[in-house]
Amino acid sequence: MNRPDLLVRLESARAAREQAGLLRRARTCDALGSRRFVRGKTLTDFCGNDYLGLAGHRDLVAALSRTAAAEGVGTGAAHLVSGHRGEHAALEEELADWTGRERALLFSTGVMANLGALQALLGAGAMPVWGRGASLCVQDRLNHASLIDGAQLAGAELRRYPHGDADGAARQLDARTGLPAMIATDGVFSMDGDVAPLTALAEVCRTRTALLYVDDAHGLGVLGPQGAGSVSAAGLGTAEVPVLMGTLGKALGCAGAFVAGDAAVIEAIAQFARTYVYTTAMPAALAAATRAAVRLARFDRDGRRERLAANIARFRAGAAQLGLPLMASGTAIQPLPMGTPAAASAAAAALEAAGFLVVAIRPPTVPRDGARLRITLSALHTADRIDALLEALTRLPRPVESAVV
Ligand SMILES: *Cc1c(COP(=O)(O)O)cnc(C)c1O
Repeated sequence: MNRPDLLVRLESARAAREQAGLLRRARTCDALGSRRFVRGKTLTDFCGNDYLGLAGHRDLVAALSRTAAAEGVGTGAAHLVSGHRGEHAALEEELADWTGRERALLFSTGVMANLGALQALLGAGAMPVWGRGASLCVQDRLNHASLIDGAQLAGAELRRYPHGDADGAARQLDARTGLPAMIATDGVFSMDGDVAPLTALAEVCRTRTALLYVDDAHGLGVLGPQGAGSVSAAGLGTAEVPVLMGTLGKALGCAGAFVAGDAAVIEAIAQFARTYVYTTAMPAALAAATRAAVRLARFDRDGRRERLAANIARFRAGAAQLGLPLMASGTAIQPLPMGTPAAASAAAAALEAAGFLVVAIRPPTVPRDGARLRITLSALHTADRIDALLEALTRLPRPVESAVV
């Protein structure tokens, strides 16, 4: 039988990944708070990104149901056609107000926001329209995949610098002058949990007329005054960070994303970002639920950020006492290096047997030898469960120290 060459190649790539022990599978689990129900077993989720525990909050559920009952489910069209509803407009205004920006623009996911915004910023005006190499994009080595992909999709020249190294970023900009340039960084690194040196990066950009783009997927709702994020925590405004990207699927417990900045900048992104122009607007009911989440996260009347901070502190103090070599992170993301993918997978399986859901993070999501347990804390976790997790972690075989990155 004549199989298409592309399918033959795809299958051999998949088989190679299987041989390396790096296949991934989606497991089906039902959710209630931080509990996950997998094949009849109840597990506590210590790997999700619902940091404030809003995903199941009754206000979100009520807003979603109410709006769906009134307006239906699908929007049926893109924002620029007939899909833009009052709930979207109100959510955009509230996100802009929260993050201290003039205007925000909704996208359906964070991946789409990064692809679209980078493509607009790095590619617009280039000749031919999506010409290659007409701009420079300098990125942290550990940036999220969608930032890397966004720069490549835009045809920008992509240069990377060592993790968290603002001087390295400056060197990359200086090595390639003459092109309009951007530095793009995660605000909080998704697999490491540390915060980018935003003030230093802003200074590097200022002296070189480069644009600073911050993806705050893991900072929004958690860091800074009123949870406005890592950029706000660093005291930086639109002058220093002209384009801020945030996601709605992590601390806000919903789904979707936005970019925010000066009205003229956001308007121009809306013209050119293909992942905005050519896609169906998110359901209005989801925008309504997100508005409820923004209110809860911003004003935080029930002290969720405080509970999260207390949980992070409890986990780190317990780990230190037990000699667990956690990576240096002060955020809800608390990685425990495991060295090899096999060690990480075995540890995840042992934790599952003990009642915890902590997925092994393996290459290519993290560098070679960087396999880890990416443990995340939430305001929903109880002291009991955190202590029990610590106890289970001490029973794991010790990771190979030399493989720690
Ligand atoms: C999760 C994540 C994204 C993607 O957001 P989605 O809404 O899940 O598509 C982008 N950037 C970073 C840093 C992330 O962690």
